[in-house]
Amino acid sequence: MKKSCETLQETLLDVHYGEAPMTKELKDHIKICRDCALFWEELGEISALMDFPETADPLSPLVISKILRENTSSMQKNRPMRDLVFFMTGSAAFLGSVLYLSLSGHGEILMKTYLFIFLISPITLPFIAKQQITRGA
Ligand SMILES: [Zn+2]
Repeated sequence: MKKSCETLQETLLDVHYGEAPMTKELKDHIKICRDCALFWEELGEISALMDFPETADPLSPLVISKILRENTSSMQKNRPMRDLVFFMTGSAAFLGSVLYLSLSGHGEILMKTYLFIFLISPITLPFIAKQQITRGA
């Protein structure tokens, strides 16, 4: 890299941060010098990456879609929809089997099952609570 290019790229950095004006000399040099053109292009890419929603125009459609995309990906990490589907499937299977047993005249099995559930579920509650707390939910 030439010495003049180094100085000009420092000036380009100042231009990028609004501390120096873009002169005709700089523009002309970017047009003819591949290194400095690449440097200027990289500065533009960096500023695009650093364009955080907090500092950007809050009503910009690009910012809104970026925020929506981030929220959607974080929701996929938490997987609440999968848990809901799992819970609903389990509940439907349980209620279906209860309905089947009561309609087919197996009242005794049904009563024993209920008794089993009412005796076992209070014992499992502290374990479920501990699991929820350690998971941070
Ligand atoms: Zn140059």
